Amino acid sequence: MIRILIYLLVVLLSPFATAVELTVYSSRNEHLIKPVFDAYTATTGVNIRFITDKEGPLLARLQQEADRTPADLLITVDAGNLWQASQLGLLQTVNSAALEASVPAKFRDPEGYWFGLSVRARTLFYNPGLVSVTDLKGYADLADQRWRGKLCLRTSKKVYNQSLVAMLIAQHGETRAQSIVEGWVTNLAAPPFPNDTQMLEAIAAGQCSVGIANTYYYGRLLKQQSQISLKPFWPDQSGTGVHVNVAGAGVVRHAPHPEAAQNLLEWMASPAAQNLFADINMEYPVNPAIQPAAVVAAWGEFHSSPFNLARAGELQRSAVMLMDRAGYR
Ligand code: FE
Repeated sequence: MIRILIYLLVVLLSPFATAVELTVYSSRNEHLIKPVFDAYTATTGVNIRFITDKEGPLLARLQQEADRTPADLLITVDAGNLWQASQLGLLQTVNSAALEASVPAKFRDPEGYWFGLSVRARTLFYNPGLVSVTDLKGYADLADQRWRGKLCLRTSKKVYNQSLVAMLIAQHGETRAQSIVEGWVTNLAAPPFPNDTQMLEAIAAGQCSVGIANTYYYGRLLKQQSQISLKPFWPDQSGTGVHVNVAGAGVVRHAPHPEAAQNLLEWMASPAAQNLFADINMEYPVNPAIQPAAVVAAWGEFHSSPFNLARAGELQRSAVMLMDRAGYR
């Protein structure tokens, strides 16, 4: 009798005893990821614990925890940060036909250490009261003396600008890239701004005429001030196109549940989750089969840089040194 009871207990409890609970470390804010995780749990029954912090402390924590880490998946923004995590040996490669089908090659690591999940464009913004759209061309043209005292930029300390300059190096080579950045510095209307939002507000206020920012910051401003004197411009459309970057993820090197982590990653890139992941931050789905939200689509279509984003990581150090030499603070 007792043996039967024990048997029943084991049978009844075993699904709970073996249920996987995933742990995610994320530099993407809770309000952007929790709805995605909730949907995954509702679909699969897999619970997700998550910790959010800035990428620096998260990478340090993964290094410290090493093979004792509870983390299965790392989510962060900018290919520069994802590349850094893979260089530090904190991620493992994933070989997945599903991910290769969902994520275009230029938005994932060639070796499979990380995969983009949403796309942000780092494009030009201008004040239509001060600039005619026909005067705008591309990133390099902002170094022209026509823009003397009319350009605003965010600080070079931000990884977004380091990746942008890294891609300029990939495109033009170091010498040409440096003369472009030197031209930008000469043309600045004000010292570099601490964030994209303040820089965009300076353009709208007429402190400068043109600048470079991520599209979702524009989306946030539009929500607050629908009449703001600010418009996006898609640069270099007959050339290499708009500089884009991703928010993305990779399976942690010492993940306790690597297969379950890969399942979550595949699901986030799939049609079922792409709008959930991208729309909430007014980004573009990485999966080309999925349309962006109407508010994002309204900014128009553009053609984006063909370079693999891993280049942004590989050339990050060169970009930082180049910006320093050019006097870009
Ligand atoms: Fe951002």
